[in-house]
Amino acid sequence: MSVQHEPVQRADFDHYMVPTFAPAPFIPVRGQGSRVWDQSGRELIDFSGGIAVNVLGHCHPALVGALTEQANALWHISNVFTNEPALRLAKKLVDATFADRVFFSNSGAEANEAAFKLARRVAHDRFGPQKHEIIAATNSFHGRTLFTVSVGGQPKYSDGFGPKIEGISHVPYNDLAALKAAISDKTCAVVLEPIQGEGGVLPADQAYLEGARALCEQHDALLIFDEVQSGMGRTGELFAYKNYGVTPDILSSAKSLGGGFPIGAMLTTEELAKHFSVGTHGTTFGGNPLACAVGEAVMDVVNTPVVLAGVKAKHERFKTRLLAIGQASGLFSEVRGIGLLLGCVLNDAWKGKAKHVLDAAVAEGLMVLQAGPDVVRFAPSLVVEDADIDEGLNRFERALANLSKA
Ligand SMILES: *Cc1c(COP(=O)(O)O)cnc(C)c1O
Repeated sequence: MSVQHEPVQRADFDHYMVPTFAPAPFIPVRGQGSRVWDQSGRELIDFSGGIAVNVLGHCHPALVGALTEQANALWHISNVFTNEPALRLAKKLVDATFADRVFFSNSGAEANEAAFKLARRVAHDRFGPQKHEIIAATNSFHGRTLFTVSVGGQPKYSDGFGPKIEGISHVPYNDLAALKAAISDKTCAVVLEPIQGEGGVLPADQAYLEGARALCEQHDALLIFDEVQSGMGRTGELFAYKNYGVTPDILSSAKSLGGGFPIGAMLTTEELAKHFSVGTHGTTFGGNPLACAVGEAVMDVVNTPVVLAGVKAKHERFKTRLLAIGQASGLFSEVRGIGLLLGCVLNDAWKGKAKHVLDAAVAEGLMVLQAGPDVVRFAPSLVVEDADIDEGLNRFERALANLSKA
């Protein structure tokens, strides 16, 4: 039975919503695969993937199936009880990674909050309260809670809210000498995104992650990888740390983990997990059956050779065409990123104008993202059809031609 809803429009956003966002002028109402339709029935190709969330596109049958099956069984039970989907998903994550233990949350920020609190707790237990400092990278993004904006390396998100969390310092990304100079025996953790997502789709250098791992060993600090954006198949491996062969002590996941249903997870080893004993940390909704049932279905589809190899092949398809489009339009010449997290770095004449590119793309029926003011970002479904890639990039080419003409 379908309910008759009162009609709403984009202008209602400005009347009823806290203005933290400035959404596009149209309202999407339906999605299928890598296509989205708005209220007027206009169709768009989606290369934004809900900001690296819709890992299997829109309304993937396996996810719809898992969600509806679980919706008819059990929605919420609280962590006073455990539940089958949470245990199945945890087991799959443990089997597929370095980790022995999983803590579920509802978002990336909460997964990182758990990661940072665990790192501090471990250091506190093992070495005492003086070992509490966290080193993160300039331009990094770890979420919007007070702890996670304090760790994030973007003052525009952390300034203006009064005192921040103490004991956090920032060093330039991919600069091993700077990390070496900053780390000390007071450092409890070094936090890095293997690919800086919001910071401009900037992959770590191999030697940087290897060096960070070694420095952490020398100083009894934990290495935390924030894989909220880079994880769950995005790079053609289940997690980006596998591309590098550098294993963290703690890893955070979210975004693609739920394929569009909110869920986050903190993964760690048995030794470290012990420090989060009963009552030291918690959540009402984290690990709820609905989210975990969808997460399990995502894992079942994504963590397969065919999907992961497909990411690498689709990367090549995107990159080859993007480089040609960049050359023809004159807007960009560098395309960086791994797998299906790609960034076109705007040339000097177009610096600061990524938003113009997004608007021009929408006008041609294409959704893309920016990563800061200078980078146009692509984070499509990992199973985006080749035909949709080609048609979407045709639209992108037209959008850029319109821009450079204007
Ligand atoms: C999006 C993101 C987060 C925050 O996730 P939320 O679900 O928005 O809280 C944290 N870290 C990285 C690397 C992200 O890309």
